[in-house]
Order: sequence, then C-alpha cells, then structure tokens
Amino acid sequence: MAGVDDPLDRVIGAKSATLIAEQLDVRTVGDLLRHYPRRYADQGQLTPIASLTPGEDVTVVAEIRSCSSRPMQQKKGTIQQAVIFDGTRTLNLTFFNQHRLPRVLLPGRQALFAGRVTRYGKARTLQLTHPRYQLLDGDADKLAEFSRALIPVYPATKDLPSWTIQLCVRQVFDLLDDPEDPLPAELRSQHRLLELGAALRAVHRSDDRAAIATAQRRLKWDEAMAVQLTLARRRQEAASRPAPACPPRDGGLAAAFDAALPFTLTAGQREVGELLAVELAGEHPMNRLLQGEVGSGKTVVALRAMLQVVDAGRQAVLLAPTEVLAAQHARSLRAMLGEHGRAGELGSAEQATRIALLTGSLPARARKQALLDAASGAAGIVVGTHALIQDRVSFADLGMVVVDEQHRFGVEQRDALRARAVDDTSPHVLVMTATPIPRTVAMTVYGDLEVSALHELPSGRAPISTTVVPVGDKPGWLQRVWRRIAEEVAGGRQAYVVCPRIGGEDAASEDPPGEDTAGEDPAGEDEAGEDGGRAPLAVLDLISQLAEGPLAGLRLVALHGRLPGNDKDAVMRSFTAGEIDVLVATTVVEVGVDVPNATVMVIMDAQRFGVSQLHQLRGRVGRGAHPGLCLLVTDSPEGTAGRERLDAVAATTDGFELAQRDLELRREGDVLGAVQSGRRSGLKLLSLLRDADLIGQARQAAQQLVETDPDLTAHPGLARLAADLLDDQRAQFLEKV
Ligand code: ADP
Ligand code: MG
Repeated sequence: MAGVDDPLDRVIGAKSATLIAEQLDVRTVGDLLRHYPRRYADQGQLTPIASLTPGEDVTVVAEIRSCSSRPMQQKKGTIQQAVIFDGTRTLNLTFFNQHRLPRVLLPGRQALFAGRVTRYGKARTLQLTHPRYQLLDGDADKLAEFSRALIPVYPATKDLPSWTIQLCVRQVFDLLDDPEDPLPAELRSQHRLLELGAALRAVHRSDDRAAIATAQRRLKWDEAMAVQLTLARRRQEAASRPAPACPPRDGGLAAAFDAALPFTLTAGQREVGELLAVELAGEHPMNRLLQGEVGSGKTVVALRAMLQVVDAGRQAVLLAPTEVLAAQHARSLRAMLGEHGRAGELGSAEQATRIALLTGSLPARARKQALLDAASGAAGIVVGTHALIQDRVSFADLGMVVVDEQHRFGVEQRDALRARAVDDTSPHVLVMTATPIPRTVAMTVYGDLEVSALHELPSGRAPISTTVVPVGDKPGWLQRVWRRIAEEVAGGRQAYVVCPRIGGEDAASEDPPGEDTAGEDPAGEDEAGEDGGRAPLAVLDLISQLAEGPLAGLRLVALHGRLPGNDKDAVMRSFTAGEIDVLVATTVVEVGVDVPNATVMVIMDAQRFGVSQLHQLRGRVGRGAHPGLCLLVTDSPEGTAGRERLDAVAATTDGFELAQRDLELRREGDVLGAVQSGRRSGLKLLSLLRDADLIGQARQAAQQLVETDPDLTAHPGLARLAADLLDDQRAQFLEKV
C-alpha cells in the first residue's frame, strides 16, 4: 500500500516516476494526486477520423493499417508514413527520423494517437504530423481505461502526454491508503465537504461531472484554507506585537494643520481619520489598507495621521513608488504645513517639525542631511521612495509607515517594513491604494490588512469622460486628438500625452529598468500580434513629431524614468507651475501626480496598458474645477482583448466596477502571477473570480481556528497545508496583483 508522502518511484515504475519528476516537478504520491485534471473529455471527444478539422488538437483511437520508412527526397534523414483506421475512415500519419517505427506500429495493433491536424499536398489531405501515440495492444485494461465515459485531461507536456499521467494516477489509486484529512471533521460537516480521499478519487477517476464538481469544491477548500490560515496567522502575529502608542495631543501639529486646512473634510475622510486616530493610540500596531478613488483625498487622511504620530514625539515615514511622487509629496506636505514644517528655520512655529526628502538622485550633501535628520529624529516626517528607505535609512523613533499608491508592494515587503522599528515594536502601517481591489483579492493579496475605503470624492470635482480613439479604422481621428489638445491649451489648460516606451537612440533595446521605470511594463506580449508586432510608440519619437507638426509652438516637455531625478522633479515643478503646456511622458505620471489645471490625458497605444493602469492614468485629469477628458488612442481592431479592455475603461469611471471587470477580462493567472502556468503551485482549482463566497467562508473559518489555536498544534494537517503553501515559491501569489 502507499501513502501520500511516499516517493512516486516506489509506487509506479522508476521510468515514469523520473519522467513525471522532470516534466512536472511532481515527486511524491501526494504531489501527483494534487496534479488535478485541467478538464474532462467525454468519451465522444476521442475524435472520429471522419470529423477531423485542420488546426485541431485531437486524440484518435485507431488500428494501424500500415507503416513504412524511406529516405527523404530533398533532405537528409528518413520519413515514416503510417495509415490508421478507426472503423470508418483512414488517416495518414507522418513522422521524421524514426526508422524503427515500422517495427513498433505493426499492422493490426491498436493505439491512441494525439496531435494537431494539418493538411498537405495538392489534395489537401488531412494528416497528423509526428503525433504521440500510446499502444493499446488489445490490452483490455488500457482499452477500458481510455474508453471511460469521462477522460481526465491533465496539464501535460510534449514529452509527457496526459494519458501517461492518467495511467500513473490509476496505478497510484490501486495502491493508495486513504490519506489523512487536513480539514477538521467539524469544518467538513459544517460546509458539507467530502473527505479528502473521496474527493481525490472523484476528481481523478469519476465518470460523473456533478461528482467531480463536488470533489473540486472540497479541494478548493484546501487551497483557500492554506491561504487564509497563512494570512490569519500573519494578522495575528502582527497585531500581537507591541506598537508605539501615539495618542492624539490637543494643541499639537495635527490641530494646527486642521485649523489651517483650506477645505472641509468629507464625511468619509473624517470617519477614517477617527478610526486611524484610535488605532494609532493603541498598544498594538495598526495594519490598515485605505482604498479610495484617485482624488478622493487619501493623502490628507494620511498626513493627519502622521501628524498625530509626530505630536506623540515619534516619526512617520511616507513611501512613494517613484521619485517624482516622493518629491511631490514632500513639496505638498511642506506647503500644507507651512511654518509648522520648518523647524530650525527662521520664522518657524514653536512646535514645528521638519520634513526630510530622501530619493536616490539627491545631491550627496542633501542626502546626508536628510539621513541625519531621520536618524536624529529632527525630521518628524520622512518622505522617500520604497526602494531607498527600505534598506538604508535608520530612524530615531519610527512610529508609523505610510505606503502610498502601492499596487506593486507585497505582503513580504510589508513584513520587512514592520521589522524596522526599534526594540521589538512594530510601527503602525497604513497602505493607501487608488487601485480598487476586488473583494477576493483584498482577502488574499492584502489579507494581512484591515480594509477601509473612501467612497466619495470631495465636492466640486468635475467629471472625467473617456473615449476610445480607434486610429486603425479612422486614421483622421488622430489629428482631431491633437487639435483638441491645442484647444485646451489655448483655453489655459494643460495636457498629458502618455506613451508606453521611452525610446531614443537605443530605441531597439529595452528601456532600462530602474526605480521609476519599474512600472513601465506595458501589458505587452500577448498583444504583440495586434499591432503587427511594431514597436510601441515612444515618448522621445512622439515629442519631436508633435513639436514639428500638430503641436508646433506649444511648450512640450518629455518626462520619463531615464531622466535624472533632479530633472524629473524640475519638469514636474514647472508643469505644476503652468510653465509647460503638454507633458509627453511614460507611466511615471501614473500614480499620484496632482496638477488640477491639467484637463486632457491622451494615452497612445493604449491597448498596451492594463485596466488599472489606464484608470490610474486618467485619474491625473479632472482633479480641479474643469472637466477632464481621457482619450485612449489605439489601432487594435474591435474584438481583440486589448480593445475590450479599453472599452471597459471607457464604459465606467467606477473603480470598483472596473476592478471586477478587469478580473474577468484578465486570465486569472495574470492576477496571481505565475501560479496557473502549469507549474506546481499552491492554487490550482481556486478561482478569485468565481470562488469569492468560498474564500470568504474560509477566511472566517481560518480566523476562528487561529484565534483558539494560533500555532495550529491541535490541527497538524492544517499546519502542514499552510506550510506547504509557503514553501511553494514563497507563496508568490501573495506577493503580487
Ligand atoms: P488621492 O491621494 O486620494 O488621489 P489627494 O489626497 O491627492 O487624493 O487629493 C486630491 C486633491 O484633492 C488634492 O489637491 C487635495 O488637496 C484635495 N482635497 C483633499 N480632500 C479634500 C476635501 N475634503 N475637499 C476639497 N479638496 C480636497
Ligand atoms: Mg495620493
């Protein structure tokens, strides 16, 4: 008999076991049992030869009529031709350089053949070229196996066809002892879940689709529990650490700031603000995600929280994804704080603090000063880029970390930050994102955080309208785009033009990945075919075309990740000051950039961007009293995936709706990183899209379990489920959206 921990070669032949280990990274009986079928083919889907169509991948059961080998005419090597017969029709097979084949494919033998149907010759005859085959040889047993009502189709490789896996799985089941069930009986009965052994057997061997679905639901629970237990333990671990208590102080900086605020807070801002104030005052760390549409006023909320921390005598750090944004944050914080932010300078307020800016491109002296201010505690607020602050800066007394616009910031990075505080305490963490997160994703990728949201925009915001400009069908429309920009500029407004690439002299080469270019990863690859494989439009090419052509006479400036940090900052500053009419940029302007006078956003090759990127980009306009216009320029024809994404973006400005739509449009594999690429990984059946309810229930169950049994000592099976998941490529699906 065999158990799930046994190495495969003890149960199936060493040759198959080696092949399976090489091809699928599957080594134990348990691994193989968790290699679930991708789908199930009805027996009828063993295609009759009469109904083959070119281009299809088919599996045919047939008898070999003949097989011969001869040298090729024009090239070196040999060609083998076989004819097979399925009882109704014959089909030709062609192989190359397998001169022994006629000794194997003997007339009268029965076999399965799998391959792609092609046509050849003048007569356009159908054939299979180099099909894989599995001899059945009147082996009643094998024949029965492949004539089942439902044939499981496994994720397979060229050298390891599904049917080999099927036979191995069957062998395993012949010897298998029922595995121990990691899910507690109580949980199983509460949610009416099959036992593990029964579920595995059904998912691999059942002939009944309903039974398979029931089994899959049970197996999804294993996956959901593994994720949710991991997250529940993280939450618990994080929440049980001591944190620097930062109670609010009357008459402090926060109060002075509120008094000077030029607008009234929205109800949502006030509500979240009160919640944060309470949590910051607590003895355990706050771990909170603040979601809110672009422009909903998250930064103000964060700043008020940071000032409470400064009032308590500690420091707060604000991390931005790019240098541009870090500099802009520092600038607007200084402006908002006025005399309260200029400690040590002439004319500063009595209890003033200092705001230090830390980016990679600061001149050495300024950087040294900023580092000193952080280390000495002279700077109550430190603003910098994720990359820089994460590993180099030391703080006198770090009370709070704010991570802004962070959709590329994973669980582990947040853990690393939490580890930064002094004496075992963990700082309070506030993560802000304008990328609306579907509920299921919030429960997984951000599952270590509690979630709050700002739902309303400050009043007086003008709406943004979005239009797809299909220059493939209507080339003339591009001229209208430029004319529209010229009109806005004539009216005193400003515009952005975004391109997917920087370009320049080394236009052919990849743009260098750097701190600020990390985000410039256009949706790319799968779209390559849609624009005929041409290179995406580049900032540096477009800006010169515009300057010499349709936008001649306007003040155009380029902004991209390859500019030195100081230059980027200078460009942003003069754009903010209205000294630039049109900013031609890469996605460095994607997040956070706030210039209320900018009203038009033109996105070139828009099909190359993802839905949330487009939504972020368009959030750069309509931030003031003037209505915003976003033009998505594309030559992707209607019906392509790229075009569908654009239509979705144009159809709504509701970020939450869009996020859900995005999840539907993207293959989920993209959401979870490489998880569904067929490699062994934690999530195989669970779908963020379809299994929201199941995930929610698992989250609850996991939370309850962890509350009573934090180390899962009474539930070793569950502990192992969670541990296996973590081993699994460091649970990479927890790291990225
Ligand atoms: P987010 O970070 O959520 O995109 P910001 O905090 O940058 O939004 O706010 C966008 C703009 O709205 C800023 O110029 C900010 O000063 C302004 N703002 C924030 N809250 C309010 C409010 N309650 N009333 C009016 N304007 C506000
Ligand atoms: Mg912001």
